[in-house]
Amino acid sequence: MSAIRGVLLDLDGTLTDGVGGPALPGALEAVRRLRARVPVRFVTNTTSRTRAFLADALSRAGFGAETDDIVNPMSVARVVLPQRGEAEGILLAAPDSLPELSWYRPTPPEHARSVLLATEGHDLTIGDLAPAIEALLAGARLYTLQANRLFQRDGRLVSDTGPLAAFLGYAAEVPWENLGKPSPLLFGQVADSLGLSPAELAMCGDDAEFDASGAVAAGLGAGVLVKTGKYRPGAEARVAPPPSRVIDHIGELESALELAG
Ligand SMILES: [Mg+2]
Repeated sequence: MSAIRGVLLDLDGTLTDGVGGPALPGALEAVRRLRARVPVRFVTNTTSRTRAFLADALSRAGFGAETDDIVNPMSVARVVLPQRGEAEGILLAAPDSLPELSWYRPTPPEHARSVLLATEGHDLTIGDLAPAIEALLAGARLYTLQANRLFQRDGRLVSDTGPLAAFLGYAAEVPWENLGKPSPLLFGQVADSLGLSPAELAMCGDDAEFDASGAVAAGLGAGVLVKTGKYRPGAEARVAPPPSRVIDHIGELESALELAG
């Protein structure tokens, strides 16, 4: 591991119990100590809530966070899709996330430049997906705000956005592009905002594949897996490349990293 000059922390299952939930034991103190040494950003693949909502929830939990401290896949999509001329088409999103997606222009399927998947789809029916499939068959590009397989809700693992991206891609025989962790587009945007290189950043979270292994694969200086939240025993052995470190809880992160500050 190289010297780490910035730390990226997952939220749900790493710092908090559930999306917008209370702080996990030791998390407030761990974040306070890290912030005294290096810049810290909260990097989440949660797309069902806006950054403003998450900042409020983090502050209520005692962390103290501004909207700009939070990086989510919507931040990436807002830059990348307009750059590519693909900010219009079919949007599949939960109502609570719509305020952060107001830049995306809905169109009929035949005029769609893209399909933007921004929900795990638990409130959708198969029939609701028909316009998206029609658009993909007509040549629209498929983007997903994240491709996680599972998330934890009320203590149980349920399907996340990745399986729905796979469903759409399978139906229309098209690939999809992931804009969330561990996309180099997302990590690159955070690194640029901090004036650092990706190799100077560490990412820590409870998802072995997307927070730890994926961060290492994307060129970050460290990808650390924490054994809280959705972690299940042996998860670190099922991913390649392996996490840089595996720690029991977020309180161990500071001593697991070689911090420059
Ligand atoms: Mg998590």
